[in-house]
Amino acid sequence: MSVVHQNSLRGQAIEELQSNQCVCGERKKSGNSFCHLCYFRLPPKMRQALYRTFSDGYAEDYDAAKDYLKTSNA
Ligand SMILES: [Zn+2]
Repeated sequence: MSVVHQNSLRGQAIEELQSNQCVCGERKKSGNSFCHLCYFRLPPKMRQALYRTFSDGYAEDYDAAKDYLKTSNA
C-alpha cells in the first residue's frame, strides 16, 4: 500500500469518526466509528479493531469494516 493511499485513508477515517452521520446514513455519535446498528452487525473481531489507535492501523480496520458492512448488506 502506498503512503499516499494510507494518508488519504487516514484523513477520511478521521473525518468520518468526527462526523454525526454513519456510512449507512443513520445518525451516530461523533467519536464513534458507526451507529449502533452497524456496529452490532460487525463480527466481534472487527468491533475490537475499531478501538485501536490510528498509529495501530485504525484507518485500515475502519475501511475493512465499512467494506464488510457494504458486502453483508441484507
Ligand atoms: Zn450505521
